[in-house]
Amino acid sequence: MDILIKKARISNDENLKDIAIKDGKIIKIEDNIEGEALRLINADGRVLIPGLVESHIHLDKALIADRLPNKSGTLKEAIEVTGKLKPTFTKEDVEERAKKALMMLVKNGTTHIRTHSEFDPSQGFTGFETVMKLKKEFKDIIDIQVVAFPQEGIFKAEGTEEMMYQAMEMGADVVGGIPYNDHPTKEHIDLVFEIAKKYDKPIDFHQDFKDDADGISIEYVCKKTIEEGYQGRVSVGHLTSLAALPKEKLEPIIELMNEAQISVMSLPATDLHLGARNDEYNVRRAVTPVRALRDGGVNMCLATNNIRNAFTPYGNGDLIQIAMLAIPVSHLGGADDLPTVLPMITTNPAKALGLKDYGIGVGKNADLVLLDTKALNDAIIDIPDRLFVIKNGKVTVETEKTIKFNF
Ligand SMILES: [Zn+2]
Repeated sequence: MDILIKKARISNDENLKDIAIKDGKIIKIEDNIEGEALRLINADGRVLIPGLVESHIHLDKALIADRLPNKSGTLKEAIEVTGKLKPTFTKEDVEERAKKALMMLVKNGTTHIRTHSEFDPSQGFTGFETVMKLKKEFKDIIDIQVVAFPQEGIFKAEGTEEMMYQAMEMGADVVGGIPYNDHPTKEHIDLVFEIAKKYDKPIDFHQDFKDDADGISIEYVCKKTIEEGYQGRVSVGHLTSLAALPKEKLEPIIELMNEAQISVMSLPATDLHLGARNDEYNVRRAVTPVRALRDGGVNMCLATNNIRNAFTPYGNGDLIQIAMLAIPVSHLGGADDLPTVLPMITTNPAKALGLKDYGIGVGKNADLVLLDTKALNDAIIDIPDRLFVIKNGKVTVETEKTIKFNF
């Protein structure tokens, strides 16, 4: 064995388990495993979870909040401010910031990410190429899926259509889109599908990011998904507009989303910051209706989106903090709701990203996190230290902390 973990809590209803790891895989899970291991970890009843899956993040524009502030706090100004900064990015600059963001994510137990990497005629492929390079460089520490992302629109920013194809040729894993920031919307969606089909890749849209539900295109995305036989291969981020719909209008959309097997990434850290800026009182939450979608059977994920920029001027790259934020915001703190939150940053995004051999089971990849907490239900609300992070069967992070009470 390469690693033997003793007495870990992997579920609420079973005994503590020993987990044996060899050649990057979990080879045994039993009540008691004896034998030699290169590394012995005594979990002592602590919770072991599969590696956290960050399903929606922007590495290339992380950590730039101090360069040019978004004073109004609106989405419009966030796009404007970032649009001004992007042509000033150099490869060295992107690399330094993206690496810092990756280290934050790794430190906090993230083993897989999907990053939206943008390009447009004003900044070229500066950020995109750098992220593609980091994908290779970090492959033993964190798996990176790169989305070819046209943040400024495809038709609005002339020359971007050709760049979409170039990005796919350069090895992008996913085709991105942003129907709410382009026109004509349907043609934008159609083109994204056309590119995805050409390269046989999944799709991930920045979708219906508004306080109201005027002009939403999620229904068209669902219909197109079904028409093209793309069920289970399309994800959407934000989808805040659906929070503005009454039950009778929301339900048929949820039905359609299920038929199309759409996964949803809710991004509360960003959406709470940018949303409802025109509300003077009774300010709306302006966040994806997580409970309604979850209860309707939609594969719900929680993700970070941005770390310290004009869209989200805070964040530590910690998915457990994002999940903690979602608990009060989306009313997920009830006894029946709380157990559904951890899957939104582990198994649900793993499904959305199409990860193979993910999870805790014999034969699965040994991508694991040992939390400094002893009850599975406390895995989020304790915001526990990530004592050990294991990636591909190797310990990548160890956390040691000393707290002294001087009284
Ligand atoms: Zn995003």
